[in-house]
Amino acid sequence: MTDFRTDLFHGLFVLHRGDQGQGRLSRHAAAPRVVPDPHTGHPLKVAALELSELTVCPACAQLGAGGYVSFESDMRLAFACPQCRKLVWIASA
Ligand SMILES: [Zn+2]
Repeated sequence: MTDFRTDLFHGLFVLHRGDQGQGRLSRHAAAPRVVPDPHTGHPLKVAALELSELTVCPACAQLGAGGYVSFESDMRLAFACPQCRKLVWIASA
């Protein structure tokens, strides 16, 4: 049975449901080049998408797989969390 969603994370990642209920992400084949800034709504150019097998979500602190998004001309990162099912924005140090 296929169980996945493409409507999350602005379409940057596809969420797959694992056997243990743990979510897993993959890159969306038709990922957008820009996503809206969560504060201003202005489009931010996506620089790179990076999948991580084992990382800690900054929002829910769950250890698991996730995806990082970096942007051009913007120091912030966004983290796609399979548990939160949303993009968590991270201010860069
Ligand atoms: Zn999370």
